[in-house]
Amino acid sequence: MKITEVKSFLLSKPRDLHIIKIETDAGIYGIGEAGCSTREHGQDGVLKHFREFLIGMDPMQIEHIWQVCYRGAYYEGGRIITGTMAAIDMALYDIVGKKLGVPVYQLLGGACRERIYGFITVGSLSEPECESRILAAVEEGWPAIRFSPADPIIPRALRVDIGKEDLSNVFDARSSMAATAERFTRVWEETDKRIALGIDYHHRLSVAEAAQFCQMVPRGSLAFLEEPIRNENPDAYAVLRTMTDVPFAIGEEWPSKWAALPYIERGLTNFARVDVCCIGGLTEAKKVSGWCEAHYIDLMPHNPIGPVCTAATLHYAASINNFTWVEVVPKFNEGASDVFPEMPRRRGTYYDLPTRPGLGVEFDEDAALKYPLEIYEHPHLQRPDGSYTNW
Ligand SMILES: [Mg+2]
Repeated sequence: MKITEVKSFLLSKPRDLHIIKIETDAGIYGIGEAGCSTREHGQDGVLKHFREFLIGMDPMQIEHIWQVCYRGAYYEGGRIITGTMAAIDMALYDIVGKKLGVPVYQLLGGACRERIYGFITVGSLSEPECESRILAAVEEGWPAIRFSPADPIIPRALRVDIGKEDLSNVFDARSSMAATAERFTRVWEETDKRIALGIDYHHRLSVAEAAQFCQMVPRGSLAFLEEPIRNENPDAYAVLRTMTDVPFAIGEEWPSKWAALPYIERGLTNFARVDVCCIGGLTEAKKVSGWCEAHYIDLMPHNPIGPVCTAATLHYAASINNFTWVEVVPKFNEGASDVFPEMPRRRGTYYDLPTRPGLGVEFDEDAALKYPLEIYEHPHLQRPDGSYTNW
């Protein structure tokens, strides 16, 4: 079997997505999703380089193709590269699964579980609807519920003078910490203690702020604090680790096993948030989960983009023993049924094991062409003094 074509689709539905389709001379195609969202044109450019050598290669050689893509350039790695490689990698798994007539998880060692549970995000603790969403999530039986902080973000305004939205929003960390700690504590006191509650701070705090925030909530209330600070520097997390015993959920931005290395080996993450669409695909994600297993760390995969990401993540989750819950974002990873006529179907709080050969996602090229990418930029946050802070 040989690769005959590599196509790129930049979509705006159900959110900004980069889908890659690989065609073969056996009439089998595979699809993948690249994970560096909001920078899709960068990935598309990388794919143009990869396409030059991918055409003619044997799609059954998944590991070999991973190595060629990663090491083929003098300047190896980086998120734009590994995000693109992730899509290629999962498309190859899709092709091999279809060729052999088995779901992808069978190629990864077979299923370790009967179903795959998720965690749900109920939104910001400061939103008025948050309380009813929590009650609904508890009623539905979610094993884990995640909150966004009570963000005193001043919403973006329409800049009539320039005819488009002003991306500048104000984020006041101290106000957010105070409101989040107060509201989270109240929720925890009223919630069944068997449910794991977590907060994703979206790396918006400093080390000092994160340490104090951990001390502002009752000991034992946070099952996990996700990305309290940025993750370029594991030494900063090592300092924070000495200032709190709250478990951390880190890893959604890791672009390789080498980026994951210090967080695993130095005990800096307690839930590894591996993103199969960022880390370099199933090939790299599987290696990282083995490394986590050696350190008794569970995987809590990141899954915030489209249905191909969800499908690949489910096959990954099925095949590893050290797994907790997969992220569920219904509006994104279950949207656009015309573009993806077949995609994973959730049963409330969990997914059944996929049964179709390959990833189990069908892709309609013609439907995809109806939703060309409109460049999306995350809001740009400012501190009250006008300086930049993280989205
Ligand atoms: Mg996150």
